[in-house]
Amino acid sequence: MKPVIGITPDVGETSARPGRPPMPRYELKIAYADAVLAAGGLPIVLPYSDDESAPKQAVEICDALVITGGAFDIPPELYGAKAAGKLGPLKRGRTAYEHRVLRAALEADLPVLAVCGGMQLLAVEAGGTLYQDIRDEVAGAFDHEQKSDPREPGHPVSVVAGSALEAIVGAREIQVNSTHHQAVKDPGRARVCALAPDKIVEAIELPGKFALGVQWHPELLAGPEHLALYRALVDWAAK
Ligand code: MN
Repeated sequence: MKPVIGITPDVGETSARPGRPPMPRYELKIAYADAVLAAGGLPIVLPYSDDESAPKQAVEICDALVITGGAFDIPPELYGAKAAGKLGPLKRGRTAYEHRVLRAALEADLPVLAVCGGMQLLAVEAGGTLYQDIRDEVAGAFDHEQKSDPREPGHPVSVVAGSALEAIVGAREIQVNSTHHQAVKDPGRARVCALAPDKIVEAIELPGKFALGVQWHPELLAGPEHLALYRALVDWAAK
């Protein structure tokens, strides 16, 4: 049996047509599921629910979790801040479920790979804070919303020596894509394990477990160092 890897979807809606108003729907970039498959796991999508028991049951069914990203921001009150000018759209129902399933996974020692906005949620769960807009709040930072195809790298990151991330990717510097306007400000209990050249936090890990957050999208990039993240997750899930 392949390890079951739960993936959180985005929420969007169908496009309107005459006589057919838009309907809400779950959305997931196929690359996430393909990366899990390529790493030897069985991906399943986790729809959202207000039911208190749903996240815990999802964690019982799954052997690992991928918290995905999307074009939305985390509500600032979750990290004790007020909304600033450049805050993007929120998806409160999605974030509320992801927050609960992430917490349940960490409590159960389920391995977690948190991607892009998922990494920001991991930082918040670890007691950290976010920049609501990098260019608004960080002097000298470059634009982390690359204008080119996200299947191509946008900037390098330096990987912290001795980190779990270094052991997984096997390098001190790798090239990553960059499609975020927010970033981790204070990682809380998490450790920073990769930085962009402008010192923006690009990866975090929780000590003592497999709980890794990356600000880039490894599932969109070619190269063994990127699939290695999904492989490490699936390998840990198989234990
Ligand atoms: Mn970046």
